[in-house]
Amino acid sequence: MNRFVDQVAVVTGAGRGIGHAIAARLAAEGARVAVISRSEVNAQRTSEELNRQRPDSARAYAVDVADGQAVADLCGRIVKEFGKVSVLVNNAGITRDRLSMRMPEADWDAVVDTNLKGAFHFAQHLQRPMMKASYGRIVNISSVSGLVGQAGQVNYAASKAGLIGLTKALARELAGRNVTVNAVAPGFIATDMTAELPENMRAQVLERIPLRRFGEPEDIAAVVAFIASPEARYITGQVITVDGGMVM
Ligand code: NDP
Repeated sequence: MNRFVDQVAVVTGAGRGIGHAIAARLAAEGARVAVISRSEVNAQRTSEELNRQRPDSARAYAVDVADGQAVADLCGRIVKEFGKVSVLVNNAGITRDRLSMRMPEADWDAVVDTNLKGAFHFAQHLQRPMMKASYGRIVNISSVSGLVGQAGQVNYAASKAGLIGLTKALARELAGRNVTVNAVAPGFIATDMTAELPENMRAQVLERIPLRRFGEPEDIAAVVAFIASPEARYITGQVITVDGGMVM
């Protein structure tokens, strides 16, 4: 499929894991991709990999998504360098798990500022080129934790539930300009983020997944590619859960 020919996609957190798979999928289908990561080295690695597959399909940028001024500057640069932005995937995210009773305020702030405010920053600064073009797709990567909660994750669950509210409000704001805004809520996906969890916890999670396996980053990328494609034109303000049936 070549659903993103002549399109420009901005993918945050594309240095590793799910964001890497999303960037690779969109590039494989013809998009030119702004690969964004916190660290220069990871952004470069993804970008070089995509450029090996298809020359000139990616450029790397390092930014802290929580830094509003840095994101504003970067978005201006991306629009200048690529000429337009058709797709934004807000995927960058972190966890700082701990029971709420013992959670330092800094862990609350870091998670909410990265996962929720980071998405707001990019949506704020990239909606203008989409509105001007009367075309755009914004996809926010939430989590099943934002739908049903998870002990030890009050910060993370709040940030991911907040992303759902942001998705719906923004969908209403931008619908008249043919810009759709949706969220994808992954379940347990095998990445660096989940590799940190203890073995007994992973076994407990697996028990709760009807499809009997952890998800792969490509399982999320396939759904993001659909929801970000022109053919998903009548879907906005929705949350699509991709979790092997864990939450139903
Ligand atoms: P990883 O930890 O594997 O990768 C996270 C990516 O986000 C990295 O590229 C990292 O940059 C980037 N990032 C983190 N903080 C910042 C920041 N402040 N500024 C810019 N970039 C940042 O995570 P996953 O791939 O597992 O997760 C991706 C998204 O999916 C997250 O939003 C996560 O919450 C969500 N999700 C994941 C699930 C899972 O089971 N894995 C389940 C549900 C949701 P760098 O590479 O430079 O460090």
